[in-house]
Amino acid sequence: MPQELNYWLTTVQMPTPPPQPLPETADVAVIGAGFTGLSAALALAKRGVKVVVLEAETIGWGASSRNGGMVLTGLKLGVNQLISTYGRDLTRRMYAASLETVNCVERIVKEEDIACDFARTGHLEVACKQAHFDDYARQVEVIAREFNHHLRIVPRGDLRTEIGSDIYYGGMVDEISIGLNPARYVAGLGAAAMRAGAQICEHTKLERIERQSRNGAPGFHLTTSRGSFHARNVFVGTTGYTGAATPALQKKIIPIGSFIITTAVLPDALARELSPRNRQIYDSKNYLYYYRLTPDNRMLFGGRAAFFPETSRTVRKSAEILRRGMIEVYPQLRDVRVEYVWGGTLDFCFDIMPHAGQIDGIYFALGYAGHGVAMATWQGQKMAEWIAEGKTDNPFAEIPFPGAPLGLYNGKPWFLPFAGAYYKVLDWIS
Ligand SMILES: Cc1cc2nc3c(=O)[nH]c(=O)nc-3n(C[C@H](O)[C@H](O)[C@H](O)COP(=O)(O)OP(=O)(O)OC[C@H]3O[C@@H](n4cnc5c(N)ncnc54)[C@H](O)[C@@H]3O)c2cc1C
Repeated sequence: MPQELNYWLTTVQMPTPPPQPLPETADVAVIGAGFTGLSAALALAKRGVKVVVLEAETIGWGASSRNGGMVLTGLKLGVNQLISTYGRDLTRRMYAASLETVNCVERIVKEEDIACDFARTGHLEVACKQAHFDDYARQVEVIAREFNHHLRIVPRGDLRTEIGSDIYYGGMVDEISIGLNPARYVAGLGAAAMRAGAQICEHTKLERIERQSRNGAPGFHLTTSRGSFHARNVFVGTTGYTGAATPALQKKIIPIGSFIITTAVLPDALARELSPRNRQIYDSKNYLYYYRLTPDNRMLFGGRAAFFPETSRTVRKSAEILRRGMIEVYPQLRDVRVEYVWGGTLDFCFDIMPHAGQIDGIYFALGYAGHGVAMATWQGQKMAEWIAEGKTDNPFAEIPFPGAPLGLYNGKPWFLPFAGAYYKVLDWIS
């Protein structure tokens, strides 16, 4: 049995904020010290705003240190579905934003000099069925025509130039996407936010928010596990870990478990055979696998193996499911040891779209549906601009934000086993 441990955390020393009392007041209280919260805190502090970040655990404890480190273009939903739901103009703006998110990560990594193994490797999507591959041609054409962005089709016969596996029907490459070490990246964001003047309070859980005016100005009274204080504005960046302190948001997000294994370090020749161009790879199923080489040549292989969020039981169960999945893709790894397994919580809204905006006067950004490394970073920057300067051009704040059908959800996802079964059936028939 592999160690139940996040491999990325073995490669980094997380910054430790100095223990400080909570302030009496802040301009902005940011909830959550992941990509969203830290990116916002960095941008706010750089504008001279007094910002306090509340983190229930430690910097990067949530999905931000646990993910695959794939900084991806595009959104979870396909472009045709986006256009038919939101129309051409809004979809164009959303797609352009998705390209900008990747550049946003690159800019911050350069500006803040974050050592996170950043590499423009591109990503490869592989087709599990002929019908999925046929759809790639349609998508490439629409994306080029509507968004002037160019992807490349890889026919089955050429797939060995991209991946050392013969089980797929072809692929689609986007050269713009990036691979990085997410734990090093979130550590770097935390250090940068503190350098810029943000106060980060670890082990400080937000318990309640109430409206409270001070000197005639509206604001909020925040009760935390370490005391209370007043903030003029609140920005919530808790996404998959959103809890009872923000009930209106908790009802809009479905927390879904995602799990990852990593193998022992592979010999160079085997690593090159598995992924000759070192791509960030994922397949075309709803219940998908995503995988890549780590910078030290381990195979990192992830998926929604157990569906429920991470516990020791779901992590152990996922290790077996993922190992079987990995060997189906790469029989070459049959005798290679799996060294680490861990899980985290993915953040899905009911329409599988990211959302941002204000609810009850509280700012938020969440629901990245597996594309959060880039989108969360970008949303943090955008929301900081909105809070500090009062203006925004964030297309994800303009789309409707649906809750559960018939309102049948109080934040406890009782329907996950049914949703899991539904997606398995969908993968089987479509
Ligand atoms: C296994 C896995 C693999 C993934 N792979 C990829 C990938 O390859 N590419 C990609 O783009 N995306 C991926 N994602 C998604 C991506 O990691 C997330 O979308 C992103 O990290 C979200 O960042 P965040 O800052 O919004 O939230 P998080 O990093 O989850 O941070 C939220 C923080 O809020 C804190 N919090 C919650 N409630 C409170 C409270 N009441 N008071 C104080 N603090 C609180 C939590 O402790 C947590 O630290 C993956 C996710 C998982 C789980």
